[in-house]
Amino acid sequence: MNIEQALQQRSESKCELCAATDNLHIYEVPPNSNGNAEESVLLCARCSEQIENPEKTDVHHWHCLNDSMWSQVPAVQVLAWRMLTRLSAEGWAQDLLEMLYLDESTLTWAQATGEGLNDEESIKHLDSNGAVLTTGDTVTLIKDLNVKGAGFTAKRGTAVRGISLVTDNPEQIEGRVNGQQIVILCKYVKKAS
Ligand SMILES: [Zn+2]
Repeated sequence: MNIEQALQQRSESKCELCAATDNLHIYEVPPNSNGNAEESVLLCARCSEQIENPEKTDVHHWHCLNDSMWSQVPAVQVLAWRMLTRLSAEGWAQDLLEMLYLDESTLTWAQATGEGLNDEESIKHLDSNGAVLTTGDTVTLIKDLNVKGAGFTAKRGTAVRGISLVTDNPEQIEGRVNGQQIVILCKYVKKAS
């Protein structure tokens, strides 16, 4: 029996995530599937396209995980965990994720692509009004700031162009004032509109 036959039999010829019966193909579960049936799943084109392209994620499609996350197949559990993690801003997905128990090696596999990490949602730089700051923004200082070590005061109202975000600290940005690159606390700036 070849891999395709094994997967067809295991899945009863249905997408192992959403149970669709058309456009099925073998999907090798990243990051390093050896191509055997244990590390592959049978998926429909709709599921695999969204898994591969997060920007095409259709939230409603993934309610199918409500059923498929209970699969006994680790490769299916891994994909269910990754998609629920990606969708965890949705209350229902977060609820399912909390119910989804993976044994240790399966969880390690699920986490191996870094899904859920480096999520831009997780670190947000917010200005004094709660607006999200992004690299390249122009901000205005909302109070006089004594710049330690530089010997000058950055005046309230000063525009700082082309800021960059301090990646590991959501409370800080960097920008040039008086020709010097300084660290500024987000709470003392306002994003220019
Ligand atoms: Zn599917």
